[in-house]
Amino acid sequence: MREYLKLYIDGQWVNPAEPKTAEVINPATEEVSGTIAVGSVADIDRAVAAARRAFAGWSVTSVAQRVDILQAIEAEYQRRMQELGEAVMEEMGAPASLACGFHTFLGLGHLQTAITVLKEYKFEEQRGVTTIRREPIGVCGLITPWNWPMNQTCVKIFPALATGCTMILKPPQLAPYSAQILAEILHSSGVPAGVFNMVQGSGAVLGTALTKHQDVDMISFTGSEPVGVQISKDAADTVKRVGLELGGKSAFIVLDDAALADNVAGATAGMMGNSGQTCSAGSRLLVPAARLDEAKKVAAETANGVSVGDPTGNVAMGPVVSKGQYNTIQDYIQKGIDEGAELIAGGLGRPEGIAKGAFVRPTVFVATNDMVIAREEIFGPVLVVIPYKDIDDAVAIANDSTFGLGGYVNGTDAAQCKAVARRMRTGWVSINGGFDFHAPFGGYKRSGNGREWGEFGFEEYLEVKSMIEPAPAG
Ligand code: NAP
Ligand code: MG
Repeated sequence: MREYLKLYIDGQWVNPAEPKTAEVINPATEEVSGTIAVGSVADIDRAVAAARRAFAGWSVTSVAQRVDILQAIEAEYQRRMQELGEAVMEEMGAPASLACGFHTFLGLGHLQTAITVLKEYKFEEQRGVTTIRREPIGVCGLITPWNWPMNQTCVKIFPALATGCTMILKPPQLAPYSAQILAEILHSSGVPAGVFNMVQGSGAVLGTALTKHQDVDMISFTGSEPVGVQISKDAADTVKRVGLELGGKSAFIVLDDAALADNVAGATAGMMGNSGQTCSAGSRLLVPAARLDEAKKVAAETANGVSVGDPTGNVAMGPVVSKGQYNTIQDYIQKGIDEGAELIAGGLGRPEGIAKGAFVRPTVFVATNDMVIAREEIFGPVLVVIPYKDIDDAVAIANDSTFGLGGYVNGTDAAQCKAVARRMRTGWVSINGGFDFHAPFGGYKRSGNGREWGEFGFEEYLEVKSMIEPAPAG
């Protein structure tokens, strides 16, 4: 049993202003795995005050001072990576190989990227008579979801630290453990008191308090579209900068060429990774209509071959995050059946032989793009295969979505892949598996605004100042 009974405010582990705790459920066992201390609005006020005091000093530290601290964090993060991975596995159910692999690797990648960007970044540049200077925006409220907990906390905390901002992190209630360890890492790496603060607890209470707070300059939020909309409204009265990373229904376009089977297999396996709980997941698989039968066969075989079970074991897929999420996904599977989509793998209920836990069957439908299961984000291991007539049709289907976060194009002709990627109305397109920590990540349309990752993510935390001198005489 884990016990984390303190909040992290002003460089110290403190009791919540009002004594309150919450139990955390392990989604694989449906049993309580531990207890955390939960904060109230008074704790947010304390944390914001600490962050405001600390901003005066932290915002004027040198690049070298911040690099030193980030490198100390890097060493400590690497030392505790296994622990972080185990926390992720327990809190949200990712299988060991993924939790102790890509989950924690992503956090480290964002940390190392922040260090690289900081070392090279030009905080001042001259344009004619004007010096353009970039300065840290101030006190930041960071609100994160449970699906890739280390990725999402690290992609905010490290650029914020690197730019000279101070912050209050509000981690997700469903997955609070890895954030707790991360706070311990920051504490023992010499981050000055008040620069980083963490208050666990309810988003509706603490997230709202942060968003409306007079003394918070920016909110960076990753999560669902409805909460993103609410945050935008709540932040309006104090004219905060708001960065939103929301949901998606991203298209994975498999081009008509020899590698079709391999690409369909890869796309299907990819969709089931992290139990489909990835905002940029390629949840609409677009295949050439003439080769639909072949694609269906490969997608169904791949989904049926995904091993599901106890995340501590050697499996490809664990449970989804909670019973609530399980029920939501079941409703979508039922909806797909009801609206006449063709179910070709998986379906309702738990996988065979599993009697307990939030385990969902890797599921594949063949559908049309107007169906609910092709339009709404399911956030579970449910793939929708959609046939297309030609490239124009594929692009039209891909872009016929209220979202615009990710996209994937796979094929053997690199130039053709890139031409298709150019036409997609999304913020991030991976071509044949391409991946880059420096590539800006974020959404068009209702998938959000702003960009994270790399230099673009760093600049989210900066204000721009112009200092204009008189033109030289003559
Ligand atoms: P969520 O319900 O929107 O919650 C995200 C965070 O916001 C949690 O910490 C939550 O607190 C907090 N929150 C809830 N209500 C709030 C309010 N009124 N004001 C301020 N904060 C509030 O999202 P989720 O269910 O955790 O995550 C799944 C969603 O996130 C999916 O839609 C997914 O696509 C999206 N997502 C997007 C990205 C991206 O980068 N674009 C990445 C990952 C996930 P609680 O702990 O109380 O819930
Ligand atoms: Mg939620």
